Amino acid sequence: MTLETAPDLVDRFGRTVDYVRVSVTDRCNLRCTYCMSEQMQFLPKAQLLSLEELDRVCTAFVRRGVRHLRLTGGEPLMRRGILDLVRSLSRHLGSGALDELTLTTNGVRLREFAKPLKEAGVRRINVSLDSLDRATFARIVRSDCLPQVLDGIAAAKEAGLKVKINTVALKHDNRRDLPDIIRWAHDSGMGITLIETMPLGAVDEDRTDQFLSLTALRREMETYWTLTDLPERSGGPARYVRIAETGGKLGFITPLTHNFCETCRRVRVTCTGTLFMCLGQDSSVDLREPLRASANDDLLNAAIDRGLAAKPKAHDFLLPERGAAPAVGRHMSVTGG
Ligand code: SAM
Ligand code: SF4
Repeated sequence: MTLETAPDLVDRFGRTVDYVRVSVTDRCNLRCTYCMSEQMQFLPKAQLLSLEELDRVCTAFVRRGVRHLRLTGGEPLMRRGILDLVRSLSRHLGSGALDELTLTTNGVRLREFAKPLKEAGVRRINVSLDSLDRATFARIVRSDCLPQVLDGIAAAKEAGLKVKINTVALKHDNRRDLPDIIRWAHDSGMGITLIETMPLGAVDEDRTDQFLSLTALRREMETYWTLTDLPERSGGPARYVRIAETGGKLGFITPLTHNFCETCRRVRVTCTGTLFMCLGQDSSVDLREPLRASANDDLLNAAIDRGLAAKPKAHDFLLPERGAAPAVGRHMSVTGG
């Protein structure tokens, strides 16, 4: 099978995969309580894909019809050479093979990276921000860096990047702040998506304590805001509404209280080159070995096909039970959020 004739990626349930998230590092300059433990052990650097290998994997997916690439982590702006990777991948934007090259970041290093990212072809980024209160923010991410993140967001806007905010909804830490964060995002011209905390990897806290049902929160919001469903999809699990009172867009990612796996169009590649077909399932295929075994992509494409054939119908997340082990042992920072 040559690359030119490699078929598009359609799984056994008829879903076409056209969106890939790639974790470029498992390392991070923060330690968000729901994502990592304070003493997180990172992988030996030798296990990570090189920048050239990351480029090759992404390019193989683009040649198989993938139109959206999102670089994530860990913190992607902590990966040495990240701009070289972005500049190199942007050739697929230039050729028209790719619609979008985006990035999810915690924003800490955005002041330094916003302009070069824009110049390299990135048009849109997601920035994670869980509170506008400095002390609450510091407690959640275990670092007092809210001013830096807000300055990073300002830099991104100055550079002409479109910014969307991601906020993990936490029952104790930020539940009461959520309407303010939403209003702030909309007043600043940004969309925002709320995310239910998912049981991925061991952390120091009991997640049951922090779990907040966004399906319930949405019902509550409807008592003070007018929410209108929007038809738009991002190739992922978010569902969007327009809030009449703020004029902005709000997304809900509700893997635990309402899944949308039937329309899932994405797969993920970890920083070590493992292809995961579903964030909430363990089935995976190693791409690193086929990548290293041959300079042409036949083995790599065959591995991608094996993975796709195993894409599960739906994830296995269950509503959290006190003291239960995480549904999936690996952390979000390894698989790529
Ligand atoms: N470091 C970058 C950031 O925080 O934006 C990118 C990687 S991070 C793993 C991607 C997204 O996953 C973030 O929005 C983060 O809030 C979210 N996330 C991490 N762990 C999560 C969990 N257990 N449940 C739900 N969302 C999680
Ligand atoms: Fe780092 Fe992002 Fe995980 Fe927070 S959510 S610890 S910023 S990878």
